[in-house]
Amino acid sequence: MPQYYQETLNFHNTEEIKVRYEKLLREKISSVKQLEDWLTRVSRLQEEIEEGLSGHYIDFQCLSNSPETKKQFEYDQKFIEPLRKKYTALLDEKLLNSTFLHELPQDFYNQLLKRKKNSQELFREENIKLEIEEDRLASEYFEITGNMVVDWEGEEKSLSELSPLFESTDRETRKKAMTLSNEAFIEKEAILQQIMTELINIRHKKALNAGLTSYRDYMFKQYERFDYTPEDCHRLAQAVKKHISPLKTVSQRRHQKELHLDEYRPWDARGTGPDEIPLNPFTNPETLVDKAARIFGHLDPHFSGLLRTMDNKEMLDLTARKGKAPGGFCTPLPVTGYSFIFMNASGTHDDVVTILHEMGHCIHNDLSSHFHLADYKETPMESAELASMSMELLTMDYWNYYYEDSRTLRQAKRNHFRDILSFLPMGVIIDQFQHWMYENPGHTEKERLERFRELQEEFDADHIEWTGFEHWRERSWMRILHIFEVPFYFIEYVIAQLGALQIYKNYRENPEKTLMNYKRALKSGSSKSLPEIYEEAGISFDFSEDVIKELADFLKTELEMLENDD
Ligand SMILES: [Zn+2]
Repeated sequence: MPQYYQETLNFHNTEEIKVRYEKLLREKISSVKQLEDWLTRVSRLQEEIEEGLSGHYIDFQCLSNSPETKKQFEYDQKFIEPLRKKYTALLDEKLLNSTFLHELPQDFYNQLLKRKKNSQELFREENIKLEIEEDRLASEYFEITGNMVVDWEGEEKSLSELSPLFESTDRETRKKAMTLSNEAFIEKEAILQQIMTELINIRHKKALNAGLTSYRDYMFKQYERFDYTPEDCHRLAQAVKKHISPLKTVSQRRHQKELHLDEYRPWDARGTGPDEIPLNPFTNPETLVDKAARIFGHLDPHFSGLLRTMDNKEMLDLTARKGKAPGGFCTPLPVTGYSFIFMNASGTHDDVVTILHEMGHCIHNDLSSHFHLADYKETPMESAELASMSMELLTMDYWNYYYEDSRTLRQAKRNHFRDILSFLPMGVIIDQFQHWMYENPGHTEKERLERFRELQEEFDADHIEWTGFEHWRERSWMRILHIFEVPFYFIEYVIAQLGALQIYKNYRENPEKTLMNYKRALKSGSSKSLPEIYEEAGISFDFSEDVIKELADFLKTELEMLENDD
């Protein structure tokens, strides 16, 4: 395995790491200048640890069935993470108690101090032990789902390798692939449910330890959601239900017509119609990267240069294979100074969107790397996903590199807008489901399935005929790794998607100015509040009903233009 990250610390010598921390804790600070220098040194250590942890995490995701990568990852969770948490809290305390705190330039340090005070309020040493167990359970989820294989006509396939078949023109193939995929999860239902129950219990306990009544409130603080509330999420769900879900139904009806079907079943939702050309945007990872780089070149040569450099440095693991964890992500390696892209490409249009999306994160990491404070480089998810989801839309004009003839290109763009329509209701459902789970931590496994079904029925006016397959539908949350690994991290996708649509709408009117604003917002990292970052991007951090209605109308017009050209 190539070493794409730097190990400046020996993680197996925890004493050495403790000494580094202790030295920072004991340092005498006698001026505001020294306080600022000290903060820079704290950041440096934070980044060295982050680099090692992220590198080991990537190794484990790339080789999830290797005993060595697993051992290292588990070691980190058990020994390094707890050490980091304990010392971060102590360093925060030293900072907040400093006599020079009020001499720091407020306009620059305001966000940092607000966040440090919030973490101090939330930190409980007794939660560190619970988090080790929480991490272990999340890893167990990855091991189970990463190693799910099915027999496809005598050939062993991972679930990621199976998913392109959902888009087949042949209905029987789609049905068979989807059945195998669902059965793989149903076979593991008992253990996945049990993991969920244990996670809920641990997480609830953590909230109580921190003096809060629910884990939902705990996570709102943990994610530093200073600018919106659980009620806002609920209102957002209602607005999506009212303005987006009906459009989704219309688009599914149209899709059904394209498929020439009397009945629209679960395995038809991603199917390719007989008059359509199957989307085969690339056949190998080299082409996937090369075309993406050419596309980015049109937006900014720096973006394409970044992707080519990451490729040369072997910081891309793109193709699906057995023994590799599912999903896709981009992780910054702050010491190396580049990000790593992990994904499970199998030749589909989704893979194209994924690499463009993940590159949005890499560009964000790159543009915010000028800060000397590690905290300002780590962006909250509402702005991180704004960067990546906007990139999906901003690159659309150049998708012709993947789709040379205009008909396939139009089809790909149309599918992308349909995917947005299809995602938004699902996004609010996953969010509302988690609100319910943690507001009612004593619920049973059966109630969990029922609640998920109820939410789908309420917020997703799905045109699919589910009869006989309701058991697939009510268990589909088990596929969402966020619920297990990063609880409550989902509404950000909805908020950011709505932001990205606003950016795209501006781009349609004024591309240069929009791109300039976009880069300006990314450069601010997390040194400003979310409303300020969104404002820099030329949009508003607003997901009220009026905004959603306006965006729904925009989506409808864009989609109709692409559909009526057929
Ligand atoms: Zn993302």
